[in-house]
Amino acid sequence: MAIYKKFESALIHGGIYGDEFTGAVNTPIYQTSTFMQERLGGNPKYEYARSSNPTRAALEALIAELEGGVAGFAFASGMAATTAVLSLFESGDRIIISSNVYGGTFRVLDKVFSHFGVGYEIVDTTDLSLLKAALTKDVKAVLVESPANPLLTVTDLAAVAELTHANGSLFLVDNTFMTPYLQRPIKLGADIVIHSATKYLGGHSDLIAGLAVVNTAELAERLAFIQNATGGVQQPFDSFLLIRSMKTLGVRMDAHVVNAEKIADWLVAHPAVETVYYPGRKDAQGYGINQKQARNGGAMISFELQKGYDASAFFASLQLIALAESLGGVESLVCHPASMTHASIPKEIREKVGITDMLIRFSVGIEHVDDLIADLELAIGRAKA
Ligand SMILES: *Cc1c(COP(=O)(O)O)cnc(C)c1O
Repeated sequence: MAIYKKFESALIHGGIYGDEFTGAVNTPIYQTSTFMQERLGGNPKYEYARSSNPTRAALEALIAELEGGVAGFAFASGMAATTAVLSLFESGDRIIISSNVYGGTFRVLDKVFSHFGVGYEIVDTTDLSLLKAALTKDVKAVLVESPANPLLTVTDLAAVAELTHANGSLFLVDNTFMTPYLQRPIKLGADIVIHSATKYLGGHSDLIAGLAVVNTAELAERLAFIQNATGGVQQPFDSFLLIRSMKTLGVRMDAHVVNAEKIADWLVAHPAVETVYYPGRKDAQGYGINQKQARNGGAMISFELQKGYDASAFFASLQLIALAESLGGVESLVCHPASMTHASIPKEIREKVGITDMLIRFSVGIEHVDDLIADLELAIGRAKA
């Protein structure tokens, strides 16, 4: 067992370090669907790869350690992870979701889980009095993102944990935007942490993956059952890629954040920019709370151009920064939440929560910041109607 105290070392040595069968420094890709059994009823560690696979097991142990939970689970996508977690609930249960929750999370509740009698309610969890009023006995869970997609609103996770637990409900946090390097929700009282590992944990825009970490043995047993029963598991090769990527999570996040802080300041000072949403700026909603619960403001920025600018001309004029769904890769990406990530949310609800047609979401990459600013400057210039 390697000995270390710091998170950066856990990224390299955490979970199951080295291969128990060969001594390989890196857990190999166990590309196999099944495992030979010595005898009948022998209760082998591995028997069939939907249930368990050594490469996936190494990833699951790693994320559990990084988030400070009891057990980790790896899925084929973030939505598969969310779906497995939501499968813990039953007909008649209701789940509160924060206002700016990921569009796909809203969609699976609205269009899939509703068929099974699991209801949901959207609550602005940045206002604890609204949450308190909404916490009735049939609410079995509260699912929060902080900072939330795409307006980067900050929810007080420790305060929500307390209210949620007082109601006897589970507290679920989608930690995709922060990663355990910047924020560790279980320490703040979360029962389950969910990740789209497609984003920062994968970090290179080359895989789709989801992770979940639970904080009790009871939840671990229930989620393991659901993972095996429903089967949306992460494949060995993708598990390997994810372990590889997570070794550099700390250095990547540091570089992302340095760029994001500079770009947020630059956008605020730009005369064509109307609003900037970035939780790392002192004037942001929830800045103090974010400072308390996270290492810094992360690397996602949303902003609106002023009236008289044309958002589609802006997107069309970018030459370095790509217009694309997703976030968290080394390369910078922008998207238009109203027509892309949040298109499945009805327009009335979208406008009500502030996702206007002028809103641009920017996943700041780790290119040189001067090149990013030059590209933004050029595109903003060409977007003037
Ligand atoms: C992308 C994303 C998801 C969904 O993850 P997939 O890997 O695309 O299935 C869930 N939550 C957040 C916050 C996301 O950004």
